[in-house]
Amino acid sequence: MGVNELTQAGWQVDPESGWLVENQTVGFQVRWRLQRLLHHERSPYQDIVVAELEGFGRALFLDRILQVAELDEFIYHEMLVHVPLASLPRARRVLIIGGGDGGTLREVSRWPEVEAIDMVELDEAVVRVCRQWLPQVGGTAWSDPRLQIHYADGFAFLQKAEPGRYDAILVDCSDPGTPADTLYGETFYRLAYRALAEGGLLVQQALSPFIHREALTTITGRLATVFPDSGVYYCPSIAYLIGLQAFVWGARGTDPGAGPVRGAPQGTRWYTPEVHRAAFVTPPALAALRPAS
Ligand code: SAM
Repeated sequence: MGVNELTQAGWQVDPESGWLVENQTVGFQVRWRLQRLLHHERSPYQDIVVAELEGFGRALFLDRILQVAELDEFIYHEMLVHVPLASLPRARRVLIIGGGDGGTLREVSRWPEVEAIDMVELDEAVVRVCRQWLPQVGGTAWSDPRLQIHYADGFAFLQKAEPGRYDAILVDCSDPGTPADTLYGETFYRLAYRALAEGGLLVQQALSPFIHREALTTITGRLATVFPDSGVYYCPSIAYLIGLQAFVWGARGTDPGAGPVRGAPQGTRWYTPEVHRAAFVTPPALAALRPAS
C-alpha cells in the first residue's frame, strides 16, 4: 500500500513533501504531514484511511474528511457522552448511532450503572479498521458485555425501535452531505423522541457555530419543533480546525444546561462538572443559535 493508491482514490498528496491534503467542504484546505499510511480501503459506503500524522497521532479519514485524531479525540468524546449521562438521574439504556471508531463507546462504558449499550453503525468496515488500527480509541470497551452492535442505518433502526426504550441517544455521526444526511432531519428527531424514555436526552455532534452557522441554525430549528426543550453546547476542537465543536441536544424533561450534574465517571481527562456547566455559557456572538424560548 502506498501513496499512489491514495492518489488513485482521489486524494491530493505531494509525493516529495509527504503532505496530505484534506479539502474541507467550506472555505479551507488542510495539509497534514503524512508520516505513515496505515490502512486504506473502499467499503460499500465510503473511502476509509487510517494514517499517522505528525503532531496529531493516528487519524481516521472517511471520504477524505478527518473524523478522529488521537491528539484530541478525548475532548469530543467525553463531552458528547458525559454531558447527557451526568445530567440524567440514571442512564440504564444507551443508544449510540454511528461512532464506529469506538471513542463514544469507550466513554459510555465508564458508567457502571448503564445496563445495555446498543450501537448502530452503518459501516462494519469502520469498526473492523478502527479496532485494528486505532485500538487505543475503543480500547477494552469493544468487549464490554453490555454492548450489542447493529450494522444498520441509524434512521432505519429508529423506525423499528421500541418507544420509550432509551434514556440517552448519542448521535456520533459524520456531517450532513454524507451517508449521515438523514440523521439531521426533522423525521429523524421525531423517531428519536419516540425512542426516548420520559426524561431522556438526545445529543448529536453538529459541526461548528462559525463555519457551519447556517447548517447549525437549521438543525437547532428542527430540534426545537420536535423537543419541548433543546439547545446547543460547545467544546474546543483542535483536529477539525473549526475552533468550537457544537453539540445539539433535545430533552424529554431533563435540562443538561440548567439541571443538576451528578459528577464525572472515573478516568476522564477533559470532562468535569465545571467544564460541563461552562460548555453551556453562550457568548453574545453565538446567542442567536439558541432556539427561541
Ligand atoms: N466524530 C466524528 C465526526 O464528527 O467527524 C464522527 C466519527 S464516527 C467515525 C462517524 C460514523 O458515522 C462513521 O463510522 C459512519 O459510518 C457512521 N454513519 C454515517 N452515517 C450513518 C448512518 N446513517 N447510520 C449509522 N451510522 C452512520
